[in-house]
Amino acid sequence: MSIETMSLSGRKKEVSNKKMTFLESLYLVTILKGLFITIRHLFRRKVTIKYPEQTREMSPVYRGQHMLMRDEEGRERCTACGLCALSCPAEAITMKAEERKPDEMHLYREEKYASIYEINMLRCIFCGLCEEACPKQAIYLTKSRTMVRSNSDREDFIFGKDKLVMPLDMAIDNTKKPQMAK
Ligand code: SF4
Ligand code: SF4
Repeated sequence: MSIETMSLSGRKKEVSNKKMTFLESLYLVTILKGLFITIRHLFRRKVTIKYPEQTREMSPVYRGQHMLMRDEEGRERCTACGLCALSCPAEAITMKAEERKPDEMHLYREEKYASIYEINMLRCIFCGLCEEACPKQAIYLTKSRTMVRSNSDREDFIFGKDKLVMPLDMAIDNTKKPQMAK
């Protein structure tokens, strides 16, 4: 068999240019074949669901939106070391580090903190490498938090600390803590 006629999938069909018969030119058989395929699918199990009325159970390994964690005293854990940004294959993370002032001990756990921390959700592929790289257990991809919502403005997909930092009451109240992705 020559290279031109070989088919990797074995499903290659030679196309013929022969003239159509009268019956073929009416396309009746072709239309009926198409209708039959449609009807056959009516009785099959549907792969779609009526979201948002119905929701699917998330996979045990589902990774949702990131959360910048606080410790049990409500202080931000992140020390702006940049390891998460370095390990991110999508280059989705940016941050600005600042030194903690003496009167900010109750806000930030470490001497250095991220005054700006942003994740571009359009770039993120939810791989979880940022979570694995973090030496301070400061960033997690949550299971229970909502998915990143759709939007029509690209700017709205850049999530800053206002969207990422764990709510204060969640840090203090153990019953509210989010489920982390495994
Ligand atoms: S989940 Fe992956 S792609 Fe998304 S910010 Fe973290 S390291 Fe980057
Ligand atoms: S989230 Fe973790 S890895 Fe990223 S800058 Fe903060 S402390 Fe460093």
